[in-house]
Amino acid sequence: MGNNYLHGLDRAHLVHPVVSWSSHEQRGATILESGSGAYLRDSEGRQYLDGFSGLWCVNIGYGHDSVAEAATRQMRQLPYATGYFHYASEPSIRFAEAIAQRTPGDLDHVYFTLGGSDAVDSAVRFIRYYHNVTGAPQRKHFIALERGYHGSSSTGSGLTALPLFHDHFDGPSAFQHHIPSYYPYRNPVGPSEEAIIAESVRALRATVERLGAENVAAFFCEPIQGSGGIIVPPRGWLKAMHQVCREYGILLVVDEVITGFGRTGPLFALEDEGVVPDLMTMAKGLTSGYAPLGAVVLSERIYRGIADNAPAGKPVGHGFTYSGHPVSCAVGLEVLRLYEEGGLLANGQRVGAYFQQRLGELEEHPLVGESRGRGLLGAVELVTDKARKTKFDSSLRLPDRLLTLGRERGLIFRAFADDILGFAPPLCCSCEDIDLLIERLSSTLDAALDEPDIHAAL
Ligand code: PMP
Repeated sequence: MGNNYLHGLDRAHLVHPVVSWSSHEQRGATILESGSGAYLRDSEGRQYLDGFSGLWCVNIGYGHDSVAEAATRQMRQLPYATGYFHYASEPSIRFAEAIAQRTPGDLDHVYFTLGGSDAVDSAVRFIRYYHNVTGAPQRKHFIALERGYHGSSSTGSGLTALPLFHDHFDGPSAFQHHIPSYYPYRNPVGPSEEAIIAESVRALRATVERLGAENVAAFFCEPIQGSGGIIVPPRGWLKAMHQVCREYGILLVVDEVITGFGRTGPLFALEDEGVVPDLMTMAKGLTSGYAPLGAVVLSERIYRGIADNAPAGKPVGHGFTYSGHPVSCAVGLEVLRLYEEGGLLANGQRVGAYFQQRLGELEEHPLVGESRGRGLLGAVELVTDKARKTKFDSSLRLPDRLLTLGRERGLIFRAFADDILGFAPPLCCSCEDIDLLIERLSSTLDAALDEPDIHAAL
C-alpha cells in the first residue's frame, strides 16, 4: 500500500534524469531503500549487487558510518559557510589542500563545485577568462572527442558528443568541435596502437588547423571514455594528445569525473600516463556520492594568469552558493581517509586486477565481441557476429532487455548505446563479490541468448 502510494507520487511529480519520460510513466520507479557494502535493497525487499556503484560514484561502497558521523559533526557545528566575500570554512580549506597535494605537478588550486557538470562548466568559464585577460581573446574554440561525456549543463553537453545529449537540445554550439574517438575495437585504422595514436594526432592537428591554431582555447578528454562505452585508449595516447596541445599553445583539460579516486587503480587515471594537464575536473568518487561535490583544479599557470591579469580588485564573477560546501568537504576528507588509511584504494587495485581477468573470460560467451576496461571499470560489447563485429538491430532493444534480465538476477549494471554493458563495482568489493557479479552477468547473457529473436539474430 505504502509502496503503491510512493510509486503514484513518483509518476506524478518526480522528473527523472536521462530516462524516457513516457516510458517512466508506464514502468515506474525501482525505489531503493538501503545499502551496505556493494549491495542495495529496494522497497520490495529485493537485494541487488550494485555493479555500477550507483552512477559510478559510490566508490567506497554503502553504509560507512564514519562518513555519516563526519557529515553530522559538521552539520551540527556549521552547516553552511559561503566562499564569497573572502569567507571560508575549515573543511573546504583542508580538502582543497588534500586534493592539491595529490594531483600531479602544479595542479595546486582547487575550485569546488556541486558535481561534474558544473566542474566542466567552471573549467570552460575559467579558460575563457584566462585567454581574455592574458592577451588571447580570440581563443574561443573547444575540441573534444566523439563518444566523450563532459556533463549535461548547457555548455558541457556540447562538449559531450553523445547524440542523446544533443538531439532536440540544439547542441553543440558553434564553438564546440569533435574529433573521432580512438575506440580500438572499431577503429578503421585497425588494431595497431601506434596507428590509432597517429590517427588521433592527425585528427586533432587537422581540426586545429582548420579552426586556426590561434583560435583554439582547449582540448577536453577523459583518460578513459566512460559514458561513450568505457573505451580505453592505447598507452601513450594521452601523452601524444598533450604534445599536440603544447605545440599549438592549446590548454589540455583532463576530465577525471569517473576515473578519479581509485576507479582504474591509482588515485587518478592520468598518473598512469605521466601527463600534467592545465586543468583537471573531478566529482563522483571525490565524496563517493555521500554528498554532492565536484572540483576543477587549476595549474599554477592558469591560476596565476587570472590572479595577475584580472583587473585589479575586480572579483572574478563565477560562483555558486554551495561552492566549497563545508558538509560535502567534511565528507570528502573522511572518504579520502577511507581510500588511503582505510585501505580501499589498495583493495580496489587488488580486486580490480581480478575483475579484469574474470571479465576477460566472458569473451568466450557467444554474445560478447569484446570485454575491456581497467581496474574496477569494465565493459562488454555485444555483437551478433564476432568476426564481423556486427551490431544488433536496434529494434531488438537489447540494452533495455538486458538491464531487466540483470535486475531479475539481482545485478545492477549500465547499458550504453551500441549494446555495450558497463560495470563499475565499488572498491570495497571482495573477489567473492566479483565472482557473484560474473555469475549473475553470465546468467543474464545466457537468458538473453535463450530469447528466440535474439538467438535468431546470431
Ligand atoms: N564528466 C564526466 C567524464 C562524467 O562521466 C560525468 C558524469 N557521468 C560528468 C562530467 C558530469 O558529472 P555530473 O553528473 O556530476 O554533473
